[in-house]
Amino acid sequence: MQQSALREYNQIEYTAMTELNWTELDSVTTIWVEAPGPLRAGLLFRTGRADETLTTAGQTHLIEHVTLSSIHDPSQHHNGFVGEIITGFLVMGQPQEVSDFLAKVCDTIQSLPGDRLESEKQVLAAESATRRYDFRSNLLVWRYGTGGYGLTGMPEFGLHVITLQQLRDYSVQRFTKENAILWLSGPPPVGLHLRLPHGIKQPPPPLAPIQWTFPGWFVDDVCGGIAAGATVPRVSASTIFCEIASKRLRERLRMAKAVSYAPAVLYDHLDAETAHLILYADSAREHRTELVTLFGEVFEEFGKIDDLEVDRARQQVHEHWVGSLAPPLADRLMVEAQRAAMDQLFGRELESIESIATEMLSVTASDVSKFWSDAQSTTLFALPSGIRLQPWMGRQIPPSKVPAVQGQKVASLDAPIQQEHLVYGLDGVSVVWPNGSHFTVRYSQLAGALHYEDGCLCLIGFDATTLMIEPTLWHNGQSVCRRIREQIPRDLLLRQQPRPTSAIPKPKTTAWQRFQARLTQR
Ligand SMILES: [Zn+2]
Repeated sequence: MQQSALREYNQIEYTAMTELNWTELDSVTTIWVEAPGPLRAGLLFRTGRADETLTTAGQTHLIEHVTLSSIHDPSQHHNGFVGEIITGFLVMGQPQEVSDFLAKVCDTIQSLPGDRLESEKQVLAAESATRRYDFRSNLLVWRYGTGGYGLTGMPEFGLHVITLQQLRDYSVQRFTKENAILWLSGPPPVGLHLRLPHGIKQPPPPLAPIQWTFPGWFVDDVCGGIAAGATVPRVSASTIFCEIASKRLRERLRMAKAVSYAPAVLYDHLDAETAHLILYADSAREHRTELVTLFGEVFEEFGKIDDLEVDRARQQVHEHWVGSLAPPLADRLMVEAQRAAMDQLFGRELESIESIATEMLSVTASDVSKFWSDAQSTTLFALPSGIRLQPWMGRQIPPSKVPAVQGQKVASLDAPIQQEHLVYGLDGVSVVWPNGSHFTVRYSQLAGALHYEDGCLCLIGFDATTLMIEPTLWHNGQSVCRRIREQIPRDLLLRQQPRPTSAIPKPKTTAWQRFQARLTQR
């Protein structure tokens, strides 16, 4: 299709779906569309996992659970979610049901009942036990550590210790009129009230990477293949690039070479201006080397994108938005309402779908190339182990971003077979190997420490370095752990549930093996 024809076609199609109605209900910004079907609504708040800290991680999720569990809804037409920076309550039903549900959410969230607190902590523990490994969150941990957006890849460590009062204090600070927005698929029900407290409008948390040298890589054998994550500007060229990248990965890795089952391109909004772009490809373990080589070839060829390919990608995108592959108009209208609501919470200026479409029409091959070269300059790779390193992968990210500490040196109970030492001093703790490599957590960079009844300590740094110090594996382990614990501020110490004996490790070597090792080392 010629660009001018496409432009005309676009305008007809898009104009039909831009009827966003804006109003205010009890000072809460409200957006609604005229979509057929039962009334659907979402009450969203600008707060999420990235607003927590390691020691409070999980509290927003707990607020969401406690709130929903105290709302009686036999028809189960409601739900909730906690995202990186947005928490939402969703409902579908007759206008009166929707109205009752939203009013109840507002009433409950500002005076959280305590009767379900402990049960919901247990439910969350069960939920996290079923949560599967997610390479997207893991990429965020490697980029942002254990603060802000990196927290989405960390366990909800704050759940055990949180009190009802702490939860209530946090709730009234975050779930306010200024941080809320409501979207609906029809006009707001008559008599709907959103009784929320006033508060301070919260901007998205800053994007503060702990890693500055890109491209870089780390080993990830759990993701089942290779993943590349980059932080990119939210521009029209991204849509075209994602379409091209997805097609090229699929054609090369799945269709032509048959090494990958589900190569994917993902694009997640982080804040008003930035998104997280992820390219991923899986493979059987025996094909990992070939997978990485082919992925690298596709990766390097993104440097060559021409106008014809951009045009084809544009038409494909158009087909998905409003063409033959587009969802029904009612769904599109709702997506529009949700997009407007999200942008409002992100603090992003709302762009009409027509202007997004017009912008997309003007994207050229050189815009897409520029987008790609920006992306490359922030890329982190999750690589399988044992592969040959290539220049496009950049440099390995060191396990710890802080220097090792000086202090008391403690030998392993498996020494000399295990040659690393534990070093602890006034500044923190390191585990150091004879070649100089180390894992270090400095107290000035301590995000939190898990403390088990059996004496074990797990120190976690802001750079996500995790040091598990097992008293059963080091000389004088109990007293070493006690002395380290004394250095940790109380508010960073998280008492854990007792561990079963089977979970406590023992030295792996026998006295005879260690004796033999000492003889051979002389
Ligand atoms: Zn949940």
